[in-house]
Amino acid sequence: MVLWGIWQGCGKPQMNMFLRPLVEDLSQLFQRGIEVNIQQTEIRTRAMMIVATMDLQARAYVLQMTQHNGEHGCLYCLEPGKVVKSGKGNCRSYPYRDVDPEPRTKENIKSDAQEAIASGKRVHGINSESVLSCLPYFDVTTNVVIDYMHGILLGILKKLMSLWFDSKNSKEPFYIGKRVDEVDSIIKTIQPPYFLRRLPRKINGNYNHWKASEFRSWLLYFSLPALQNILPDIYLTHYSLLVEGTFILLGEGISEADLRRADLLLRTFVRNLNLLYRDSIVGLNAHNLIHLTRCVRMWGPLWAWSCFVFESFNGEIKKCIHGTGNACRQIFWSLQCQKKVEAMAVQCKEDQLRDFYQCMTEGSNARQKGGEDAYQCVVFTPAKIQKTFNFSNIVKEELVRLCGTYDTNNFMIVKKISRNGFLMFSKQCSRVVKRNSYTIKMVDNTIVEVEHFLIHKSSRKVVAVCQKFQPLGPLIRNRLQHLQTFQLQSVENTVVRAELLQEPVVVVKTDSKICCGVIPNNVERD
Ligand SMILES: [Zn+2]
Repeated sequence: MVLWGIWQGCGKPQMNMFLRPLVEDLSQLFQRGIEVNIQQTEIRTRAMMIVATMDLQARAYVLQMTQHNGEHGCLYCLEPGKVVKSGKGNCRSYPYRDVDPEPRTKENIKSDAQEAIASGKRVHGINSESVLSCLPYFDVTTNVVIDYMHGILLGILKKLMSLWFDSKNSKEPFYIGKRVDEVDSIIKTIQPPYFLRRLPRKINGNYNHWKASEFRSWLLYFSLPALQNILPDIYLTHYSLLVEGTFILLGEGISEADLRRADLLLRTFVRNLNLLYRDSIVGLNAHNLIHLTRCVRMWGPLWAWSCFVFESFNGEIKKCIHGTGNACRQIFWSLQCQKKVEAMAVQCKEDQLRDFYQCMTEGSNARQKGGEDAYQCVVFTPAKIQKTFNFSNIVKEELVRLCGTYDTNNFMIVKKISRNGFLMFSKQCSRVVKRNSYTIKMVDNTIVEVEHFLIHKSSRKVVAVCQKFQPLGPLIRNRLQHLQTFQLQSVENTVVRAELLQEPVVVVKTDSKICCGVIPNNVERD
């Protein structure tokens, strides 16, 4: 990531002034480009800023528009919205319309801006021209996108949770604050897989402090199983539209049919929001959902341009500041050092020294050490099987079928493997007390709990001794294929080949069943 600038001063910068040098640099990179010598050939490379992502507040400043609660706050259409009561004050609501409002275009934004400058009055929510419009190729209505981290997770989802759990709504049919302890008791039992870094925290008195990634896990995996039979069905079904729509748009390969389905789900969600709750909840974040699929159609999945990476980089930047001196100088000094060490690591030819450099920049936990190649996977620290170890008859039969023998001398025991871009643990792994990375989805959608892995010494084939789950169908009928329910099939272990294991799943256990959720993509991590 390249840090272009930091604002250090009282209040916010005048955005057109602050961003002008950036726009000038970007214009140069587009019009003149830079010469690069590749294999003795001079190649002129040009660069474009194709996507800009920010929260609603920043967007209003950067694009010289009214704030999100002002009239005509939407960047993509000319819906004015209406003022409605909200608590003791007022706010702006964007009612759903069956025919989409007239879209904004590059041209009508330009003419509104010119009219606003001439008259000194805001026109269709536009105050002035944004410096970004000086980029010849840049169209704010297509190149500025909707950030799901702020809009959905910290916006709509947090708002819904306040409606469900805050006691000021205790007279409402959707209020479930009295049962928050039941929800928390389910959350308490959740052991997320290793790739969800944060352990879930309870809702009661806490959710206002949740990080965006905690809201993401709650939205995609925990909330529906935890709220089933607690939130009234009509509200749960309505909420599941948001869950499924977001899940689809977070995918890795999104088809045209997926896009159409996501659009339908999100529109149905928005259309019913004010009917089920109240007008004030349909603010700009909710309204933006009707434009979200268009952004994904143009620029790919939500994770590819969300604010998550930038927010986490903000965290890195904050770590650079020590004491009260010149903060900007400290940040640039520290980031320059990091870049220098990264470059030294790439150029370094000595293994030990390179490892040392990499540890400095990535941390020692960043890489998995000590893996050994096996058939279609990597195994970690295989160990001798103890003499007292005994296989059940079924396991023996399966081992003979898959490896030709069940003699323990021919196998080593393995606690952890890596395959298909994932780590997979066995239940025997002592480091997984608060984690469950041993419930694994197989390529045929079967779910298994891995007791331990065995590697056959001569063929290097790896098998998992495991228990199979009995499928009970999707959590919500005919919907949400990523959340399936199961019960344990039997206590008898069986054996499966490791190359059939696909990925760990997120498990939520309730009284009656086990809900297993798959992740939408293997790119975005906490
Ligand atoms: Zn709109």
